[in-house]
Amino acid sequence: MVVLDVQPINAVAPGGPLAVLDVQPINAIAPPRQPPPPPATDRELPRCVRKHFLPALGLRADLPVHFIAEKTVTSTDVDAHQNRFRIPLDGVERCLRAILTPAELHAANLLHDMAPRKRTKKMKENVNAEEEGANKKMKEPKKKGKVHGGLRVRLVDLAAGAKELQMSRWDSSRATVVKGEGYLDFVRRCSFREGDVVEVWAFLQRHVRIFGVDVQRGDGVLHVLVVKKNQPRCCYCPIIPHAQ
Ligand SMILES: [Zn+2]
Repeated sequence: MVVLDVQPINAVAPGGPLAVLDVQPINAIAPPRQPPPPPATDRELPRCVRKHFLPALGLRADLPVHFIAEKTVTSTDVDAHQNRFRIPLDGVERCLRAILTPAELHAANLLHDMAPRKRTKKMKENVNAEEEGANKKMKEPKKKGKVHGGLRVRLVDLAAGAKELQMSRWDSSRATVVKGEGYLDFVRRCSFREGDVVEVWAFLQRHVRIFGVDVQRGDGVLHVLVVKKNQPRCCYCPIIPHAQ
């Protein structure tokens, strides 16, 4: 008699090789509702951005630069215990999402619309816990498979230059933040302080290849520019500021 070294199919332990995982492949995620193009703005980009800054970053001087939002820098944006810069929700929804690809939206946890929720006391506690948790380097993700490292971005300031960080939307508060290692050191060198009114702009230069020929070289990294209103100079300005 031949003894086969196999197990009957129903003897496979739960969670074994035949377990069906309740996950979707990334390309099965429905594309987001087609967002409208970013609304036109009559805001004026500081002259330094095209004249000095974009070329210094290795980018085209005529790159589209999108106005995202105006905000007052809060204590939490510069607080050592918070360690993140918050981008106003309205600007994210109306402008920022419109310039990102589905993969980029996914990386930033912005792919799906989130229904507005009333913040209850318990939720506020959760938000605080999440914000505190964001500061702990070795924090375990709450749910397995839902790690929000975020989308790679560069936070840009006209005085301090550019710093590579991550952008992500938190599930609980729906806040979209720029955060990451070195955030606080960078922000301390930036030109804005608590209480300053700043404009948030965004730009990215994608790599474009047509018929095997590079027509535009770019690393496609989203740049989030924070400009203090009426800031006349940047770190690339010549000693004598250019005429306004
Ligand atoms: Zn300049």
